[in-house]
Amino acid sequence: MKITIIGGGIAGLTTALALKKLGFECELFERAKQLNEVGAGIWIQPNAIKVLDWLGVGNLVRESGTLLNQVDITNAQLIPFKKTKQEVIQDERGNKIVAIHRATLQKILFEAIPEENIHLGYEFKSLEQKEHQVKISFGEREVLSDLVIGADGINSKVRESIFSNTSKRFSGQTCWRGISEIRLPDEFQNAGIESWGKKVRFGFSQVTENQVYWFAVIKASQNGTDNVNTLKTDLKNRFSDFNPWVLNIIENTKAEKIIRSDISDLKRLDKWHKDKVVLVGDAAHATTPSMGQGAGQGIEDAYYLANILAKRNPLEQALNLFESNRREKVDYVVNNSWRFGQMAHSDFGQIVMKTIMKLTPDKVMKQQMNKLYSIQEKF
Ligand SMILES: Cc1cc2nc3c(=O)[nH]c(=O)nc-3n(C[C@H](O)[C@H](O)[C@H](O)COP(=O)(O)OP(=O)(O)OC[C@H]3O[C@@H](n4cnc5c(N)ncnc54)[C@H](O)[C@@H]3O)c2cc1C
Repeated sequence: MKITIIGGGIAGLTTALALKKLGFECELFERAKQLNEVGAGIWIQPNAIKVLDWLGVGNLVRESGTLLNQVDITNAQLIPFKKTKQEVIQDERGNKIVAIHRATLQKILFEAIPEENIHLGYEFKSLEQKEHQVKISFGEREVLSDLVIGADGINSKVRESIFSNTSKRFSGQTCWRGISEIRLPDEFQNAGIESWGKKVRFGFSQVTENQVYWFAVIKASQNGTDNVNTLKTDLKNRFSDFNPWVLNIIENTKAEKIIRSDISDLKRLDKWHKDKVVLVGDAAHATTPSMGQGAGQGIEDAYYLANILAKRNPLEQALNLFESNRREKVDYVVNNSWRFGQMAHSDFGQIVMKTIMKLTPDKVMKQQMNKLYSIQEKF
């Protein structure tokens, strides 16, 4: 079976690696002409780490990032509402969350795939389902394929070409992300922190020895723009009542590298596939980032899809099975992430969340995390 992947983000690259591991003939097409120094940082959780281990790149990811021993939600002065126990945020194998620079993760995945299987500078334009194959057009080049995997993100063109009426859902929040050239004090060296102020959030973690990934989330209307000359001052003003470390982190960031993104997810699709085309990652089920699981879910898609295809079921049956195996967890993540984000930006919601955090026994928290971190071992 000849498989074509459209999109070389985290989901597309892991899908290529997973298919290659299981012996499929597969090629990936990405519109960017080169692998850019994209994004700021990312937290990769144990469910995704298990898949990266299976793909043989887990240790490189761990060594290139920072292992988080604690992840706490704190007040603006960085005092946790409830200190999270280490065993709650690691899985049954002791896998921890890894905080890593996005560009580093992309590079690790990219370099693990043979060069001849990746084609940069190819923008997907359209596809046509033929009786036995799909004809894909990249403008000047056309490719025939037995299966097309759309991994082209939340604004997926592949999705548009198989389904009409899909839409994004704006959360009412905008996020700024950056990499600060700074070293945190020892107590935060292996910590993932999300601090809550009045309807604003600021999160951070060390990603390399001298680099800190941070994100700031504020209620805002869509499609706003920034003045790069005043951006850092504006952000510092919004977080002026936060711990001085928060302001230090913003101050030590290059303003022109700060990324602004409106936070949206994708309205639930009825199906993720049609005929010989299937969607994975954000193209199928983009989530808001409040649970830090968007990329993790794309990485899980790669693992399930490749393993189910390898069982050589008829294609339609395999794609149905892929979807039914993934739906429950994806829905859980998308729905809870949305709820969490909405509550974190409302006064009443924050009170409810803090009460739930304080009252939920560690044992129950651990059970919830175990469910999130588990992946199917046998197919
Ligand atoms: C603020 C924020 C913080 C986040 N933090 C986390 C976190 O801590 N942990 C986590 O797990 N997730 C996190 N996420 C979610 C995560 O970033 C996404 O879920 C993940 O990057 C999606 O990967 P993807 O490969 O599906 O899509 P994308 O990363 O969007 O990749 C799509 C790729 O397709 C290419 N492409 C697009 N159109 C075409 C075309 N027509 N032809 C060819 N190529 C095309 C693009 O250039 C791109 O390379 C966060 C998201 C946000 C917004």
